Amino acid sequence: MGAVKGLKLYPGYEPFYPHDNRLKVVYDLAVEYDVPVMFHSGDTYSPKGKVRFAHPLHIDDVAVDFPDLKIVICHVGNPWIRDCMEVVYKNKNVYADFSGLVLGDFSDKFERYMKNQLEEMILYAGEPEYLLYGTDWPISSMKTYLSFMKQLDLPADKKELIYWKNAAKLFKIDVAALKTVNDAKNMKVKAQ
Ligand SMILES: [Zn+2]
Repeated sequence: MGAVKGLKLYPGYEPFYPHDNRLKVVYDLAVEYDVPVMFHSGDTYSPKGKVRFAHPLHIDDVAVDFPDLKIVICHVGNPWIRDCMEVVYKNKNVYADFSGLVLGDFSDKFERYMKNQLEEMILYAGEPEYLLYGTDWPISSMKTYLSFMKQLDLPADKKELIYWKNAAKLFKIDVAALKTVNDAKNMKVKAQ
């Protein structure tokens, strides 16, 4: 129990819509065990993907039909970030992560573009209690994402939400327990 923290489905990479009836059983199970379902959304890294299936607007149907299901729109629907922000804004059970926006590192121009997009999202959808940090490592580097976070015009407490607090709550991660495990590991390293 509790070993599975979340599920990720890949519409776009695979030809199905999030509101496909065949997935009802998955969503019912996810609700029963209170496990979030993450959806790949937006661009597919592979040119063989069919992006109409990955448009974030389709996720609204699932959010409405399964109000108790917790949903994450991965990659903020990039490049359909406006559609993603509307789905996040209107459904309190929908979250979004901004992982995998670049292959490798942000260029200066793209970083500025994405900074504006995310700030617009927060302006529109409100306090970023729905927004999750993520890199999609090894596709994007942790270093480039940390410097991207520094560029965001947000107070430190809101950034803490995005960095880890929102995710810890959503995925029910006992952060205090992780700290204990890490402290124990560090002590072992020191003792050696
Ligand atoms: Zn993905």
